[in-house]
Amino acid sequence: PHRIQLQPGERLFREGDAPTTAFLLESGDLAISALRGDSSVHLAQIGAGDIVGEMAVIDDSPRTATATAVTECVLIPIGREQIAERLAHADPVIRSLLQGQLKRYRGALAAMHGLALPEGQFDADPHELAGLGKIRLESQLREAIATNGLDLRLQPLFDIRDNRIAGYEALVRWTHPERGPVSPMEFIALAEETSLIVPVGDYVLDAAVAALCALRDIGIAPLPFIAINVSPRQLREAGLIERIVERTRAAGLEPGAIKVEITESQALDYVQVAEAIAHCRREGIHVALDDFGTGFSNLAHLHELDFDTIKIDQAFARNMMGSARARAMVEAIVDLVHAIGAQALVEGIETEEQLDVLRALGCRYAQGYLIGRPQPLADVLRRNGH
Ligand code: C2E
Ligand code: CA
Ligand code: CA
Ligand code: CA
Repeated sequence: PHRIQLQPGERLFREGDAPTTAFLLESGDLAISALRGDSSVHLAQIGAGDIVGEMAVIDDSPRTATATAVTECVLIPIGREQIAERLAHADPVIRSLLQGQLKRYRGALAAMHGLALPEGQFDADPHELAGLGKIRLESQLREAIATNGLDLRLQPLFDIRDNRIAGYEALVRWTHPERGPVSPMEFIALAEETSLIVPVGDYVLDAAVAALCALRDIGIAPLPFIAINVSPRQLREAGLIERIVERTRAAGLEPGAIKVEITESQALDYVQVAEAIAHCRREGIHVALDDFGTGFSNLAHLHELDFDTIKIDQAFARNMMGSARARAMVEAIVDLVHAIGAQALVEGIETEEQLDVLRALGCRYAQGYLIGRPQPLADVLRRNGH
């Protein structure tokens, strides 16, 4: 039924029933009671607009109370699957917070009734463990940021035409105290869900500026640039571009020594990114679009936004040698990038053959293990004879 009507004194559900639905109380009042020994104890009164009976549905356990209409009630059933679907899509952290609350409530209820908790009631389920794992990781990342637990790697960006390393991409690393190195794929996503991405970004900016100073101080000229990854979330937080200008200036570097790569994990807000690009251009900072051709990084971005460089995702390079089709696509994308007046860089170049193809296509930049892996600054300095 889409609606349920109860007369005063009628039961909605009984303690011990197996739950099938929760209910939204549209009008009327319900009394919630539970048995204690032989007598019924009044626990709560529920009014219009409240949800009732959801707890047993959420954790799939028998009703722990009885609901009885006090006045005439109208209720809308909320199916178990409606709730399950929401839970399945919810942030695991929210799920474990919810389950923690339910357990505590059930524990309190059991204590009140002088009952033992059913076996396994306090065991965490896999969802809850995933949520707790995420919260734990987040706290540990927070701690790592505060205690210099992050590291910077630099991966060379190769200028094919001039046959030299033009710059480096800054890639952050976190060595977890127990787990060892954690992939940025995992912790950047986590940091982006919270404002933690801001101190991570600050760390990377400071480390990149320090690396540029070290390269300058050993006399490398022209000085390579360092490209830092910036997520839309970081652009939303005010002051990133100002910070780049401020830090480079304080170090006596050109603002252009830092480049920005926009990495999209969600749809881009064009107005915001267009403003950021314009701001960067005024300051002489180049902006690249990362991972073009996959995920959210699509043709509309090229249409709407005026990037200096387009980084073509490594998925294309990976298939380039085995498939004429993939190669035709790389060629067409490189041409497209040139046609809109931007520079093309292809990521994920691992073999000489791939590099030869790029050269033949007139693509200016390449990045990948063939040219160099992400490496600590000390290795970069050593490679330059220091
Ligand atoms: P990305 O910006 O696309 O970075 C390139 C990734 O591809 C890096 O992985 C790099 O190690 C890897 N890579 C480079 N060349 C090759 C190759 O030839 N073959 C293969 N198989 N892989 C190659 P990494 O360092 O694990 O970074 C993963 C992602 O994490 C980055 O993808 C970027 O989106 C994000 N990330 C890394 N550092 C930062 C950061 O400081 N801030 C933000 N916001 N994101 C970051
Ligand atoms: Ca990048
Ligand atoms: Ca990329
Ligand atoms: Ca990527």
